[in-house]
Amino acid sequence: MKILTIDIETRPNEVYTWGLWNQNVGLSQIKQPGSLLCFAAKFRGERQVHFHSAWEDGEKGMARKLRALFNEADAVCGWNSDKFDIRWVYAQFLKHGMGKPSPFAKVDLMKSVKRQVALPSYKLDYVARWLGVGSKVDTGGFELWLDVMAGDAKAQGLMRKYNINDTKLTEAVFDRLHERGWVLGLPNHSITEGDACPNCGSDNLRCEGTRETKTRSYQRYQCRECLTWIRSVNSLPRKASMVVA
Ligand SMILES: [Zn+2]
Repeated sequence: MKILTIDIETRPNEVYTWGLWNQNVGLSQIKQPGSLLCFAAKFRGERQVHFHSAWEDGEKGMARKLRALFNEADAVCGWNSDKFDIRWVYAQFLKHGMGKPSPFAKVDLMKSVKRQVALPSYKLDYVARWLGVGSKVDTGGFELWLDVMAGDAKAQGLMRKYNINDTKLTEAVFDRLHERGWVLGLPNHSITEGDACPNCGSDNLRCEGTRETKTRSYQRYQCRECLTWIRSVNSLPRKASMVVA
């Protein structure tokens, strides 16, 4: 299964404004809308990080690279990627006359954490530190974006480093969550790999009681590798043949 982890950086909207505080910016005040600046993407289990940018590849070139990577992926993983990264990427596909990439599972790790675990913050940096897997690189703030857009090679180098680090950090968070079965939305390993753990693909499963629904009972298992709870596809023979409330 090919899992692509991705992080993008965007360029802000350039707008005309009369004041600084509490502004409502009308559509006619947009000088240039925000867009994709660069991305870093990595397949799990591979060392190479694919980095492409508007300044090196051009917008369309970047979109083509992204599309090729998405087409290879069974799942695309990121931090807040359902709302942010994937939609920005799709905007590029549409803008440049491309269709959608081949279907893939969307694995937004922020959703996995937010839905299951109470924390004071759901920022990548906070969660990564909390899990003890690393932290973000300091960008130095908005100045970096200004310098990158002005064509400063040193700033572009730092943006690249920052972007690549974010993708690696996101993958580190993925690994930490995945090793104990906390990632939501992954494709099911057992469909392609037979009687294997749906989460990690291990066949090291043990019978562990039964799982009851309102009308059926199923054999329950637990994966010995990632501790994911699993049940059989077919239900166990029913004791009652007539009575359901
Ligand atoms: Zn497992």
